[in-house]
Amino acid sequence: MDKKLYLIKEGEISLKGGNRALFEKKLRNNIKHKIKPYASTIERQKGRIFAYIDSQCPDSVIEKALSTTFGITGFAKAFVTNKNIEDILKTAREALNVCNFSQRGTFRVHVVREDKSFPFSSKELAIKLAELVHESFPLLTVDLDNANNTLYLEVRKEAYIYTSDQKGPGGLPSGTSGLGMLLLSGGIDSPVAGALMAKRGMKLDCIYFHAYPYTSDMALEKVKTLASLISPYLQGTRLHIVSFTKGQEYIRDHGNEEEATLMFRASMVRISEQIALESDAKTLVTGEALSQVASQTLDAMAFTDSMTDMLILRPLVGMDKDEIVRLAKGYGTYETSILPYEDSCVVFAPKHPITRPNKSVVKEHFDSLKLDELISQAVKEREIIEYDANGNLI
Ligand code: ATP
Ligand code: MG
Repeated sequence: MDKKLYLIKEGEISLKGGNRALFEKKLRNNIKHKIKPYASTIERQKGRIFAYIDSQCPDSVIEKALSTTFGITGFAKAFVTNKNIEDILKTAREALNVCNFSQRGTFRVHVVREDKSFPFSSKELAIKLAELVHESFPLLTVDLDNANNTLYLEVRKEAYIYTSDQKGPGGLPSGTSGLGMLLLSGGIDSPVAGALMAKRGMKLDCIYFHAYPYTSDMALEKVKTLASLISPYLQGTRLHIVSFTKGQEYIRDHGNEEEATLMFRASMVRISEQIALESDAKTLVTGEALSQVASQTLDAMAFTDSMTDMLILRPLVGMDKDEIVRLAKGYGTYETSILPYEDSCVVFAPKHPITRPNKSVVKEHFDSLKLDELISQAVKEREIIEYDANGNLI
């Protein structure tokens, strides 16, 4: 079978001492999993992964898979050849014939000579390759620091040549830091919060609180789309869809109006905690950022924390909205997040929410509402759907 080669650069995992082998194996498996339908062989050599993939697999599929796999810092479609100078030069010519170098501007040659026994030095190799670039692109001038075009040669077990490398998402391979539960709403923040924790190696399932009929089917569809969009970064995910409408109505009818949001958030935490325990997840993750809205003051967050023994992680807590928006655009969730369908919090939001709750007083009010039954029912009646590592519904 005809194969094409992708050279993949590993990130921080090369620093991870004892865990290194585990991290590398996970990354290899994560990549393999995403390109599973296209038979592939994946091998590793110091700091690099070489994926030989069925040439039937479109480049766009491979590139989407690699650019959404945490642990990868860069990748390139590469030519491979024997380690002798004639073959290297011949292959470099082929690479230059199909490269997308600009006709004008600057270039550089980057040589990695991992095989120290190779009879030519890096400098000698760079000079020979630069001559080839000159032949094919006579108007390009050399610039070692800021070149627009780069020809790469890596001399390892074999010789690898490539001309365009793409950035990977960095981070640690998904599944190396345990499982968390992401509270995923339809907004801009929570998908980014999930992606950021996944970037630190966390595997995540998602929980969405749907207040049908107060929130529309479109709001649910939007969250499903968001789950499918972040699923590749999460290396697949499950979405738990929880209906807590009865609980929210109960809170509205029996609680203090200005505390409604806090009561709902406390219920969300309690429900999420139960689902997390069932799934063996170790933490809850939210998209809260300090003081963004009334329920995200220090006191309000301390209150939600007090509702569970479980660790709550808020990776966006110190970020400005425009930083979060920039990340959302990068992860490809922004356009969906800004669709105008309201999520449950907004519908029941009080006119004058309290921003500085007294933790123990509000907790007492929460206890007196006796929501345990409604909470267990919401957990029991939840619907679960699953997305694969390419974001497709399973
Ligand atoms: P986002 O942009 O993520 O919706 P937000 O700025 O709208 O956040 P809130 O609505 O106060 O802020 O929600 C704060 C966090 O609580 C969200 O980031 C999310 O993690 C969680 N959350 C809020 N509503 C829901 C919901 N309906 N289902 C699941 N999680 C939710
Ligand atoms: Mg929201």
